[in-house]
Amino acid sequence: MESRIATTQLTDGWARRIESLRISVTDRCNFRCVYCIPEDIEWLPRASLLSFEEITRLARIAVGLGVRKLRITGGEPLLRKDVPELVAALTEIRGVDDLAITTNGTELARLAWRLAAAGLQRVNVSLDSLDRANFARLAQRDALPDVLAGIDAAERAGLRPISINCVAIRGANDHEAVDFARLARERGFEVRFIEFMPLEHGQRWGEHSLVPGRELRERIASVFPLAPSPDQDPHAPAKDWVFADGAPGSVGFIDSVTAAFCSTCNRIRLTADGKLRTCLFSLREHDLLTPLRAGASDAELARLLVGAVATKELKHHITDGLFVKPVRTMSQIGG
Ligand code: SAM
Repeated sequence: MESRIATTQLTDGWARRIESLRISVTDRCNFRCVYCIPEDIEWLPRASLLSFEEITRLARIAVGLGVRKLRITGGEPLLRKDVPELVAALTEIRGVDDLAITTNGTELARLAWRLAAAGLQRVNVSLDSLDRANFARLAQRDALPDVLAGIDAAERAGLRPISINCVAIRGANDHEAVDFARLARERGFEVRFIEFMPLEHGQRWGEHSLVPGRELRERIASVFPLAPSPDQDPHAPAKDWVFADGAPGSVGFIDSVTAAFCSTCNRIRLTADGKLRTCLFSLREHDLLTPLRAGASDAELARLLVGAVATKELKHHITDGLFVKPVRTMSQIGG
């Protein structure tokens, strides 16, 4: 049986090979980004969270089926106690060639060294504003100084290149696009702008709030001329650009709405409560927690993974009128 696990690959019904697993370790967050988390949110009960041992086991099975890239996320993943221990366990899985964390950065000043020592390679820091008052308005927490200190700590700990992810929302932070590009140049960061997606809390998403990546790129290029990145991975969701004058850093655009990349999607997601989602916008989740806790073998769990992946959605329907918004928001799914 074990040899069958090793030779089966995770391929969906549209012949896409699944190579990336995003693992949410908590739904809790210390921010209340206006577009993401309601103030009165109810957190998942602790008993329903996958333990680190359970996460590591599922990750090992997924890697045995062809996954090579793991991303730890949440909620805010670094709020969960002892995440460096999980990092250490995941780095020991043979076949993982990319392990990173997506974080809001507030805990990095405290944890960057421990994470690097545990084997973490990179961090992606979400940062929606470089202006302290605007940041506080968006995150509903006055935490910009903590985030910047966290980024500095991550750099010093060698978690490079630092990637900064910014969700652009019209009227809220799109006026800062050039400031973000300047930060990329000055610090050699990879800054990526993510299009706002209808996975939000409340009803904020719409044509009025979506800022197409192309618009941001043109705005930046009018100040800092850009050239396509020579290192562009054709399968990566982000289209990266470097500065034509040779300055360090880059800017990238993840145009998930206006230029969807579903046809090359190679991701699946594991929620903090052990549900597998085959698309960010899935309306159906595949329960792995129950069989896991009922004593399923590795081979049985592998079969569940293979079966779930076979049903992976062809595409999201955001722009074709067939879209149905999932119940869980980005932070509950694992962004
Ligand atoms: N706390 C971690 C962080 O800040 O990176 C991980 C979770 S957070 C939900 C991951 C990312 O999802 C953040 O960059 C956040 O801005 C983004 N996000 C949340 N809601 C979104 C939406 N509706 N559209 C696009 N991105 C969204």
